[in-house]
Amino acid sequence: MRIAVLGAGVCGLVAAHRLTAAGHAVEVYERWPGLGGQAATLDVGDGHRLERYYHHLFTSDRDIAGLFVELGMPDAIDWRPSSVAFFARGRLHPFVTPLDLLRFRPLSPVARVRMGAAVLALQRLGSDRAPYERITARSWIERRMGREAWDEVWGPLLRGKFGERADRIAMVWLWSKLRLRRSVKGEDVRRERLGYPRDSWEPLFGALARSVEAGGGRVLIDRPAARLARAGAGFAVRPAAPGSHRRGHDPRAFDAAPGEPYDRALATVPNDIFEQLLDPALAAEVGEDYLRRTRAVEYFAALCLLLELDRRFSPYYWTNVADRALPFVGLIEHTNFVEPERYGGRRFLYVANYLPHGHELLGLDADALLARYEDGLRAVNPAFSRDWVKRAWLHVEPAAQPIVTVGYGDRIPPLRTPAPGLVLANTTQVYPEDRGTNYAVRLGSDAARALLAD
Ligand SMILES: Cc1cc2nc3c(=O)[nH]c(=O)nc-3n(C[C@H](O)[C@H](O)[C@H](O)COP(=O)(O)OP(=O)(O)OC[C@H]3O[C@@H](n4cnc5c(N)ncnc54)[C@H](O)[C@@H]3O)c2cc1C
Repeated sequence: MRIAVLGAGVCGLVAAHRLTAAGHAVEVYERWPGLGGQAATLDVGDGHRLERYYHHLFTSDRDIAGLFVELGMPDAIDWRPSSVAFFARGRLHPFVTPLDLLRFRPLSPVARVRMGAAVLALQRLGSDRAPYERITARSWIERRMGREAWDEVWGPLLRGKFGERADRIAMVWLWSKLRLRRSVKGEDVRRERLGYPRDSWEPLFGALARSVEAGGGRVLIDRPAARLARAGAGFAVRPAAPGSHRRGHDPRAFDAAPGEPYDRALATVPNDIFEQLLDPALAAEVGEDYLRRTRAVEYFAALCLLLELDRRFSPYYWTNVADRALPFVGLIEHTNFVEPERYGGRRFLYVANYLPHGHELLGLDADALLARYEDGLRAVNPAFSRDWVKRAWLHVEPAAQPIVTVGYGDRIPPLRTPAPGLVLANTTQVYPEDRGTNYAVRLGSDAARALLAD
């Protein structure tokens, strides 16, 4: 069969690789002039590549680790100790080992013990996820661990992922995180190790694209799909011209070339783009019920400022910002995780934010945003000065984080749409786990199976 895959993020590339291996002719269309979607890298100079958005792997991320092995890169992932801190009440508190919880000053000693006991109980006894789907994380935590634990620890942690929607997040999301953490064994219990592919995520994308091309397929970057329509029993994809990404994300703003025929189509684009791509007759075939489900998911945008600094900013890799007066939610100092020597001695810090669409910070350029962040950076490190910044890159991902509210699981649209031969697979269907490249690998394989089963 001739199969069109829309989107060359991890999910689309893995699906294309699987479909090629099953003997089909696959063509991948990608809007951006590069591979990898949300995990894409940029050249930060001197031939070094870094993800546009901070990325690491957990030891529980077995699907992506298996993919590296399958593609002949068994030693690609380096596992390194991570270091985590909370910025609260005007100072950094280490949160690296379980003992740090017992010493965590923003919480009273009783609250520390209560929190530790509740986490252990959930990890040991909470094997049925159903009860956690019906309650928000906030209510569960306040009931089981107390208000303090929410205010000082879990509220800030969830704000680091879901911004101002933290209060509405379903407990099942946190349940899944804590249960996965339970599978961590040995030395890792004392100090967590995280993974990072030795030469960034880029070699993985290259290997997947080469596998598709070796099977006779094509991976077309800077070549978005502008429209998707029914053509006979199959589909027509109308591609847009190179450079169309400069017109934004909505494919209706792209000029559409004549259609290319395919037997089947897999869309791995975000929900809103999926609907915008459908021509009216195909949208009617997909149907209101399915589209209502896709529209029901709210996405928060990631606003990520990558700074090259002339020195170290903090001693930690990952700092959760628990002080709501600061205008960002996290500081991720990549070169406190991967040694600066890997980058010729250069140092990189990501300043992270998750924001609702339309938020005023999303409209700023890198300089203006840095100006807005400067006082906050100085609150964390009083010595910080703008002179430390050698370069800045700003990236915005509108569909970065699906907001997982109570009842989310019941609303997820199935991979197979009501239109025969058309499959949708994107981060909104990763549940209850936190979306991530590992689950995009799993979803890509599931999507390929769903497409062939149709
Ligand atoms: C700030 C941030 C930090 C993250 N940190 C981590 C981490 O530490 N570890 C981890 O594992 N994961 C992390 N993730 C998540 C991870 O990157 C994603 O879950 C994963 O990459 C999603 O892959 P995907 O293929 O499903 O979606 P996407 O990567 O979104 O792929 C969709 C693709 O469709 C393309 N597209 C859009 N419109 C069109 C069109 N009209 N035609 C053709 N193509 C189109 C897009 O350009 C994109 O390439 C992070 C994400 C963000 C935003």
